[in-house]
Amino acid sequence: METKYTEVYQNAPVASKEAECEKVSMLLDLVIDGEATSEDQQYFNHHIEDCVSCFESHQKQKLLKGLVCGHLKRVIVPESLAHLIKAKIQETL
Ligand SMILES: [Zn+2]
Repeated sequence: METKYTEVYQNAPVASKEAECEKVSMLLDLVIDGEATSEDQQYFNHHIEDCVSCFESHQKQKLLKGLVCGHLKRVIVPESLAHLIKAKIQETL
């Protein structure tokens, strides 16, 4: 796996790779919100197949978005419980 990415990296000119990543990072929000055009979406998907760092930031962003949405919808924690949990977390640190 590592070899493959090294080869890709060596074959691609660094400047254009950076420009692509920059474009993809701008598309990321649109893609996550489902607001990207199909052209952008395609470009995005194609890029993250080859680019580990953009793929990872996409995964993180998706996870984050999922957690935030799920949290707002499902969990309403009483203030006292929230304090208790925070205290527990601080104890373990
Ligand atoms: Zn990238």
